Amino acid sequence: MTAPRPILIVEDDAALRATLAEQIMLAGEFRAVEAGSAAEAAAKLDAGDARYDAILLDIGLPDGDGREFCAELRRGGKRMPVIMLTGADAERDVVRGLDAGANDYIAKPFRLDELLARVRAQLRVFDNSEDAVFTVGPYVFRPAAKLLLEPARNRKIRLTDKESNILKFLYRAAGEPVPRQVLLHGVWGYNSSVTTHTLETHIYRLRQKIEPDPSRTRLLLTANGGYLLDAVPGQAAAACQVAQRP
Ligand code: CA
Repeated sequence: MTAPRPILIVEDDAALRATLAEQIMLAGEFRAVEAGSAAEAAAKLDAGDARYDAILLDIGLPDGDGREFCAELRRGGKRMPVIMLTGADAERDVVRGLDAGANDYIAKPFRLDELLARVRAQLRVFDNSEDAVFTVGPYVFRPAAKLLLEPARNRKIRLTDKESNILKFLYRAAGEPVPRQVLLHGVWGYNSSVTTHTLETHIYRLRQKIEPDPSRTRLLLTANGGYLLDAVPGQAAAACQVAQRP
């Protein structure tokens, strides 16, 4: 199973925020991080190793307007799905929220399962969009284009379909090891007759492409009967026991 995807909840109503965070994490699919103001949210987003897959954003924040905050995010190049939490007189809020670059909105009070359905829908769209851009070590990974860009060396690495899917799958696991069988099913599908040998061959080729020194893997590691992507180098190694194997 993949690790929970991080969601940033920006809401100044502490009780609502806590309930949201608690409920969102129940299914094990998401991990919630809370911010009570625009400033706090900005600080969380700017933290060095921060990564949020989606943002739930209240419109009325004590230190600003959620729509303005959203517009700011977009100007800063942040592309993850943003779902606005709007007040009762939603109509005008909604239009301005979407104008500011929000992907969707939901009016308070809302049902949690509806909110979750919208978050999932937006993540599905985003993950397959041209905008999906992930940082993997020294690379900028664009799954839709099957490309890894290395800005520091002005280099471009083209990936095959399967290589791109393997990378995407491992990235979603957020530094947790993914067992070979899970990865195999995730990339080739359940009914495939492909064996782990094929997977290993693909991993080998992928390492040749992305590892600065393929004999000493630092990004795509072998761990606990599977593989893990150390997208933020050092983080995964510190978080779990990594059994390096040839
Ligand atoms: Ca509010």
